[in-house]
Amino acid sequence: MAAQETVDHKYVYDFAEGNKDLKDLLGGKGANLAEMTNLGLPVPPGFTITTEACKAYLATGEEPAGLADQIAAHLADLEREMGRRLGDPADPLLVSVRSGAKFSMPGMMETVLNVGLNDRSVVGLSAQAGGNDRFAWDSYRRLIQMFGKTVCEVPGEQFEHALDEAKRAKGTTNDLDLDADDLRGLVDAYKKIFLTHTGREFPQEPREQLDLAIRAVFESWNAERAVLYRRQERIPADLGTAVNVVSMVFGNLGPDSGTGVAFTRDPGSGAQGIYGDYLANAQGEDVVAGIRNTVPLQELERLDKKSYEQLLDFMARLEGHYKDLCDIEFTIERGKLWMLQTRVGKRTAAAAFVIAGQLVDEGLIDLDEALHRVNGAQLAQLMFPRFQLDHEFQPVAKGIGASPGAASGKVVFTSARAVELAAEGTAVILVRRETNPDDLNGMIAAKGILTSRGGKTSHAAVVARGMGKTCVSGADELDVNIPAKKFAVGEHVVTEGDIVSIDGTTGKVYLGEVPVMPSEVVQYFEGSVDPEHIDNALVRAVHRIMTHADATRRLAVRTNADTGADAARARRFGAEGIGLCRTEHMFLGDRRELVERLILARTDGERADALAALLPLQRADFIEIFREMDGLPVTVRLIDPPLHEFLPPLEQLAVNVAVAQERGEDVAKEEALLAAVRRMHEENPMLGLRGVRLGLVIPGLFAMQVRAITEAAVAVTRDGAVAKPEIMVPLVGAVQELETVRAEAEKIIAEVVGDSGVEVLIGTMIEVPRAALTAGQIAEAAQFFSFGTNDLTQMGWGFSRDDVEGAFFWRYLELGIFGISPFESIDRDGVGRLVRIAAEEGRAARPELKLGVCGEHGGDPDSVHFFHEVGLDYVSCSPFRVPVARLEAGRAAVETDGSDSR
Ligand code: ADP
Ligand code: MG
Ligand code: MG
Repeated sequence: MAAQETVDHKYVYDFAEGNKDLKDLLGGKGANLAEMTNLGLPVPPGFTITTEACKAYLATGEEPAGLADQIAAHLADLEREMGRRLGDPADPLLVSVRSGAKFSMPGMMETVLNVGLNDRSVVGLSAQAGGNDRFAWDSYRRLIQMFGKTVCEVPGEQFEHALDEAKRAKGTTNDLDLDADDLRGLVDAYKKIFLTHTGREFPQEPREQLDLAIRAVFESWNAERAVLYRRQERIPADLGTAVNVVSMVFGNLGPDSGTGVAFTRDPGSGAQGIYGDYLANAQGEDVVAGIRNTVPLQELERLDKKSYEQLLDFMARLEGHYKDLCDIEFTIERGKLWMLQTRVGKRTAAAAFVIAGQLVDEGLIDLDEALHRVNGAQLAQLMFPRFQLDHEFQPVAKGIGASPGAASGKVVFTSARAVELAAEGTAVILVRRETNPDDLNGMIAAKGILTSRGGKTSHAAVVARGMGKTCVSGADELDVNIPAKKFAVGEHVVTEGDIVSIDGTTGKVYLGEVPVMPSEVVQYFEGSVDPEHIDNALVRAVHRIMTHADATRRLAVRTNADTGADAARARRFGAEGIGLCRTEHMFLGDRRELVERLILARTDGERADALAALLPLQRADFIEIFREMDGLPVTVRLIDPPLHEFLPPLEQLAVNVAVAQERGEDVAKEEALLAAVRRMHEENPMLGLRGVRLGLVIPGLFAMQVRAITEAAVAVTRDGAVAKPEIMVPLVGAVQELETVRAEAEKIIAEVVGDSGVEVLIGTMIEVPRAALTAGQIAEAAQFFSFGTNDLTQMGWGFSRDDVEGAFFWRYLELGIFGISPFESIDRDGVGRLVRIAAEEGRAARPELKLGVCGEHGGDPDSVHFFHEVGLDYVSCSPFRVPVARLEAGRAAVETDGSDSR
């Protein structure tokens, strides 16, 4: 190597100097070219310019000191090895200049082939190819085209136009029919296009071509589409790309040459076999550009048996070496096979599970590694039903894919109608402008939810995701008219009873019924598949990996469930208890009247009567849940929302009162309600009279709930089941609040439990920042903590979830203030720190303190890893997320090295 390199920073690596673990420095393509070189596979010689050089260039706008000399030195070595010089008119070396970042960004960045050709060396190239003029001019026109487009921003259509023009003049549609003279003419046309657009002649100096191409690759890192792609895929913006300079091999030398791609297994299904495409007499980019029709890779056996067999051998070797599905780019030059690229291939969610299972069978990886190779997002995908879109279905609108899945059904516009039709066994899609808590029953009854307003965190979206129900939100092309029971979209009008289909993954809305396939994986979780006799490869792999995750994980997984039905479903999905049973829905529906009586009570007696009427209803709810969760812990949260949420909205009441007065009816009750609503109005309900504050202010409210819970537990126990109630006090910020509630509760519990043997725990949510910071004190009065990370996030950041999403989250994401909504994935540095402090100080004060988390973060893969690290005992999430949390808890337990599985 040149002496220069010992002085300057090393920016250039020969393929022989790298290996697959140097992706940060050499990019994925460069690292794997080096790995293949060192494995002894036939890789055309070349070198890699590091991502560090790219970063230095992007920071200053200039190549870093020493880079030009290092390139010259490596180029000289390459020329010596190849016995040819770049641009030599008699016998030229040609190279490709290829981008390649750490994470593959398909089609995002640039590659230029045939660098080193000019008006003189094109003749030498022809001589090299035994006088194949056609090939030489074809290669030259490709260089001008790619160079013009990627390096000098000449619009690509211009070149394509000229090519079409040449074919038309020749009376053909196949570029193989163009002969050397046609292509020479095309080169002239291309050069004119180049001149017109750039104001300069096409550069003839090979080293200048090389340097400009390298710069263009550096700069393509910041091209708009690359920036967008990175943001979407959450690839860091500061990695930079490496540049690979590779000596050219030619697949366009005639029928005994060609180029192709190959996969060692089917990236769609994971099935073993030979998958790929081959194109004879073509250069690399033709395959992807779809210029001519490729043939299946198996055809190569007939065309060139020797190369085919060699390729299969290399594929097997690569799979054995990488221990994973590899995808490969190769070129055959006159019967000689060259390997141009390999990487661990992308795959569908189903293939990821199937392949991981197969590799275990083949002894290539162990079960820990298999677990590491799949993830919760993939599992979640596999749990949704899918549309079979092979038919001609055109979407009529596109909203936000708010909760994935596929659903078809009759359109209904009200919750009541949804419940009615569903009870008759009709599939319905609930269509609303937006939803609110009163739509809950309709949402439960519907197959899917479609709204014309609201984003990914609108009520509809959040609730639907929680229920695992398909939802498209914010389909703003829909003009929804609830009173008229219809919506208009484009030239169509859809009325109640018409059938629509919605895809909650893509956000697309279809008229009519698109056939749906249920998820086999859900059928398996629901227990309709015998694990001993699974004939479906995917289900078998899921079963195996989930079993290992369960055996490995340290976190228990509970569920958030408010009804017996939810609890039963979650239990089938593997929930080991309920981490959050909300009690507020128990005050809705026909029980509103009792709640109104409670709120309007003027005397202690009236209040006590209302509570006494609620008690048996609540007790019945809890009995159902305790029965379903026989033997498992059930955390019940005492009532949390402000009570005025149970009253009708102010405007509606005001209208009711006015109308009734008009008619001369008795309005005493309406007026009293209206007055109550006015009195209870809050500027910031989120920070108002709710949670534990209600319990301290409204005599008997919490007491009634504690009694209902305990009586239910005792009743279930007397029936021979095991109830393990855990009473959870919401919104505590100071230990004194909890002590007060606890003192009252303990009296009731002692009285009700008697000799039944039932044990009731009392604990608190940690969802107010002050509670996290005084966790040591609070733990003195609490037997468990459950982190309410939704509120903790709201109060930690000081923004309300309902208000921020539409207002400014997009800007925060754009500015990178956070990479993902802190409501979706826990903010480790801030909110996560509060969790950590509370966990540590709580345990220091009471070592046996149980720690869990409820709230949507409990089902988010990244957050589950965080809770594992902090050492919580369990996470709790919606029933549908339970398998995802089980899988991720297992992954967290095997991934101690922090390696990423992208
Ligand atoms: P991408 O990252 O978009 O796949 P590549 O750098 O792999 O871009 O190059 C695009 C095409 O050019 C590929 O089909 C590749 O096989 C082909 N190619 C790249 N370098 C060479 C070379 N030195 N000789 C022949 N073909 C090449
Ligand atoms: Mg490639
Ligand atoms: Mg809360």
